[in-house]
Amino acid sequence: MGLIVQKYGGTSVGSIERIKNVARRAVATKKSGHQVVVVLSAMSGETDRLINLANEIDPEHNRREHDVLVSSGEQVSVALLAMAVETLGEKAISYLGSQIIIRTDSDHSRARIMDIDGSRIKKALDNDHIVVVAGFQGIDASGNITTLGRGGSDTSAVAVATALSADVCEIYTDVDGIYTTDPNICNEARKLDRISYDEMLELASLGAKVLQIRSVEFAQKYGMPIHVRSSFTDCQGTIVCKEEEGMEKAIVSGVAYNKNEAKVTICGIPDRPGVAASIFSAISAQGIVVDMIIQNISDEGLTDLTFTVPKLDYDHALTALQNINQEIGARNINGDKNIAKVSIVGIGMRTHADVASRMFATLARENINIMMISTSEIKVSCVIAEKYTELAVRVLHQEFELAEETKIEN
Ligand code: ASP
Ligand code: MG
Repeated sequence: MGLIVQKYGGTSVGSIERIKNVARRAVATKKSGHQVVVVLSAMSGETDRLINLANEIDPEHNRREHDVLVSSGEQVSVALLAMAVETLGEKAISYLGSQIIIRTDSDHSRARIMDIDGSRIKKALDNDHIVVVAGFQGIDASGNITTLGRGGSDTSAVAVATALSADVCEIYTDVDGIYTTDPNICNEARKLDRISYDEMLELASLGAKVLQIRSVEFAQKYGMPIHVRSSFTDCQGTIVCKEEEGMEKAIVSGVAYNKNEAKVTICGIPDRPGVAASIFSAISAQGIVVDMIIQNISDEGLTDLTFTVPKLDYDHALTALQNINQEIGARNINGDKNIAKVSIVGIGMRTHADVASRMFATLARENINIMMISTSEIKVSCVIAEKYTELAVRVLHQEFELAEETKIEN
């Protein structure tokens, strides 16, 4: 007999009918001989609704009260599910984060889980219950309710699975797994059977919005396998796990894109120590997170610097730079919002030299200009004009033959 943690997202519990469907799945899993813990999100749209209410009172509302408010969405869904399970003749009990003691730090609305006491859940499981846990929430050392950031119930589920040494953490969502790219853009996109934590982290941070990044980091740290699958079908989804022998070692496993960034260029700044420090402290003082950074080789003592920021922060970033231009003395500060970042990701890249050049050649064949490039051990990203995103994704998907299952190379 195994222990399975199942997490269902907002769409999977978006109506009473769907909550009943989740109850049937949890009961079927229990009947097949497992202990079952279900972690839930709020019903779809609910967290947004609550945040809007708070913003109507005061956009700058108190963060402690924010968490008291938004955590309530999950209180509703767990109670409804526990009731639904009982109508099917199984025992169920719901718990809030504060009841099973999901201990977090005090960083309201983006708290981190420190520790989970699994004893209360274990006792309920041993008493033959299906245990239903409210995701997204915890409690700090002073007893305040905290929440883990948007999409945080994924992390709750992985943390609960880890605390209970579960066999697997299943994340049920409205897609049936992780795809080689966005199927809405490329109809040849293929569902992956397995993907390593490292690849998933690169793909997630690039906009494959299936799992909260933190949950993958957590799973990787503790070696908890995640099975991403659909709550609307019985198909196997994608297992996110340690890189293993026998795993598909595709050179490229996926093509991701991100249209949510803008680029900022500072031209003609003096090439001397301290300039980059001034620029990026001004940017980070605004709470703006920078992604790619490129600096030119200097010419006659002057250099150019280009970096990307979230599109939403673009105007703020430009203002922050104009405000310090006295100090840094740039000739010109400008930017472009109509860009996209297209990336190829794969652990097989470590052992293949020509991956980046193949990517560049593929884009060149379509006459797509590359504005910025960045690489990591298992990823190459190019910034291009936004209007070419779909084309770039499709031709890269084809170039690296992602539509076909890879032969296993060991
Ligand atoms: N309900 C929360 C949100 O919408 C947590 C989650 O769905 O994972 O962000
Ligand atoms: Mg979610």
